[in-house]
Amino acid sequence: MTPTAAVVSRVEHVDVLIVGAGISGIGAAYYLQEQHPHKSYAILEARGATGGTWDLFRYPGIRSDSDLHTFGYEFKPWRDDHAIATADKILAYLRETAAENGIDDKVRFHHKVLGAAWSSDDARWIVDVERTDTEELVQIGATWIFCAGGYYRYDEGFTPHFEGRERFEGQIVHPQHWPTDLDYTGKKVVVVGSGATAVTLVPAMAEKAGHVTMLQRSPTYIMPVPSKDVFANTAKKLLGDKRGYALTRRKNILKQRAVYRLCQRYPGAARRLIRYLNAKQLPEGYPVDEHFNPAYNPWDQRLCAVPDADLFKAIRAGAASVVTDRIATFTRAGILLDSGRELEADIIVTATGLNLQAFGGMSFSVDGEPVCLPDRVAYKGMMLTGVPNFAFAIGYTNSSWTLKIGLLCEHFCRLLAHMDTNGYDTARPELDDPDMETRPLLDFGAGYVKRAIGQLPRQGVGEPWLMSMSYHTDVKLLRDDSVIDPHLRLTASGAAAAVVEREPAVSG
Ligand SMILES: Cc1cc2nc3c(=O)[nH]c(=O)nc-3n(C[C@H](O)[C@H](O)[C@H](O)COP(=O)(O)OP(=O)(O)OC[C@H]3O[C@@H](n4cnc5c(N)ncnc54)[C@H](O)[C@@H]3O)c2cc1C
Repeated sequence: MTPTAAVVSRVEHVDVLIVGAGISGIGAAYYLQEQHPHKSYAILEARGATGGTWDLFRYPGIRSDSDLHTFGYEFKPWRDDHAIATADKILAYLRETAAENGIDDKVRFHHKVLGAAWSSDDARWIVDVERTDTEELVQIGATWIFCAGGYYRYDEGFTPHFEGRERFEGQIVHPQHWPTDLDYTGKKVVVVGSGATAVTLVPAMAEKAGHVTMLQRSPTYIMPVPSKDVFANTAKKLLGDKRGYALTRRKNILKQRAVYRLCQRYPGAARRLIRYLNAKQLPEGYPVDEHFNPAYNPWDQRLCAVPDADLFKAIRAGAASVVTDRIATFTRAGILLDSGRELEADIIVTATGLNLQAFGGMSFSVDGEPVCLPDRVAYKGMMLTGVPNFAFAIGYTNSSWTLKIGLLCEHFCRLLAHMDTNGYDTARPELDDPDMETRPLLDFGAGYVKRAIGQLPRQGVGEPWLMSMSYHTDVKLLRDDSVIDPHLRLTASGAAAAVVEREPAVSG
């Protein structure tokens, strides 16, 4: 759809269009309406429900591996006694936030954003939207787009090619598309993979299944953590919900940072510590190094948490086991491994990951020129060079995703305030040095990142071009530092220009 002048003048216009009603989009709406109560906004959500990730995934045991004191919003205490929480509790928390702040009313369900065209003359986006319920195409105008579309494709999880897949006579299931009627009681289950999803699924399914085997090509770091945080629950009792939550949040931020730093600085010691904690949970004589000692260093890829050591308990009880080997082929009855061993299975779960997708799969053009994402560089981890009035929400991969989103929302709201005060209507990051050294947007070794890294924008090697993964760096950059930056061109077009001429700029 190409916006014609006639269409442009007719389309509805909002000040901010938020894409996605997951934890990030609902959070962005909260900050926006708190800081800018007079701005109009809408949330476009492709699905028929809020919650994003926490509504989409329905596999047994689905839970966070972050503590909710840092994964939850800064402005809304997490009250449940469990710090590591199941999806239904996270969803209830998100939906309560949306309901009590009137954010629900702003969500337009079944609205999938396909692309957006920026016009510098009008200083606005025209956004192409597909109604996923009626297949109708509609357009909406927006001064800003805040994209909170997550980081992976919703329609399809990642499954590698498995030789002989069609021969297998049992059922093959992907965790992203869990059949509601799947009955695995008493059945032999093989879960292929060893990431966060696999380590959640294995103990949960082991409660009912005949036996669950986790089949991994190579080991992952697995860290037992208590599902309840004694400190948090005591602080809540003594100080009340709000102050107890704030204190626990601060404690956990410091703890996450300390653990991450320890792992990065002393990988050998961290590796030995994790191995020791694993060995303590496993039966005597268990081949710990074969199944739980990865080739990479701790936190070079995400570390998987297992609440109350549930995976290890299932292994100790004999209800689950781990096999480290490669798949030669699927057979009629299961999986034949490179070693020659065959794993029998009634059900094979391919916990093989996600398909990474940036910005909800939207395409962009600026004044008629298509935007090629790999040619763009992230600015302050929230905007793209040469793309005006577009902010995006990509959180941390080494601690709670949402810790970053809160800071981004604060910065975004401060930027809007500064622009309003000074009569600017356009903010566009510009790279002065086209030969600046760049590197991949996400420096994270996970398979789903590596597979898609070439399709993503890039980051630089110094501020403000870094995709920082450090909360403390971001507090300074996004919360404390000015929104004014020589690399962010703030301009006024048309009516706004007249305002700028009359009013001197103030600092932000
Ligand atoms: C199983 C699982 C467990 C996880 N556990 C943790 C954890 O414990 N801690 C942690 O920090 N992170 C975790 N993550 C990462 C997690 O996805 C994020 O932390 C967080 O939930 C992302 O929230 P979000 O709102 O940014 O994105 P999402 O939850 O992905 O929500 C995005 C929303 O945008 C909508 N959308 C996307 N594209 C469009 C479009 N073009 N038009 C309209 N709407 C669109 C989607 O339908 C969706 O509702 C986990 C991820 C998975 C898959």
